[in-house]
Amino acid sequence: MLLTTDILDEKDPVLRKKSEEVKFPLSKEDKKTIDTMIEYLRDSQIPEISEKYNLRPGWGMSAIQLGVPKRYFVVVNELTGPDDEEKEFETYVMINPKIISNSVEQIYVDEGEGCLSVNRPVEGIVPRYARVTMEAYDRDGKKIHVRAREDLAICFQHEYDHLDGILFVDHIDPKDPFKGKDQMRGI
Ligand code: ZN
Repeated sequence: MLLTTDILDEKDPVLRKKSEEVKFPLSKEDKKTIDTMIEYLRDSQIPEISEKYNLRPGWGMSAIQLGVPKRYFVVVNELTGPDDEEKEFETYVMINPKIISNSVEQIYVDEGEGCLSVNRPVEGIVPRYARVTMEAYDRDGKKIHVRAREDLAICFQHEYDHLDGILFVDHIDPKDPFKGKDQMRGI
């Protein structure tokens, strides 16, 4: 079982690597890494499990965060509300993703973005597209298109950045962390 402490911290230079394209069929190791990431993200969003194992809740994870410099990430999106007893999730496995279109409109997370690799409070806003369409391959090597909007679109862009060695903190100007706020919509 993957623990929060197994995820690379921003101080680790590996996180700055540009990840390499994945070849199909997927290797056993990559399949295992994908399963491990999905399991962590699900468990971390189920309070009984996350409390028991002290898992920091996460919504998305890129392979590079586990030290695997390959171009794939996973998003596990909760479909149920906080009061629903049975939790339901949708899972996205995005291999060799590309952003093929984006909205002109930009948004940011009001309370600030978070990252399983950034273990400190960070002030400031990260401009993101309000809507994106990504093309990627699933684990069977089939081409997929995913359209995401609002917070889910932010999550996809955040994970996509990891593949190029970019962390959300890189988008924040330390001298003016709220730059451009008036031109964008906070969510
Ligand atoms: Zn992250």
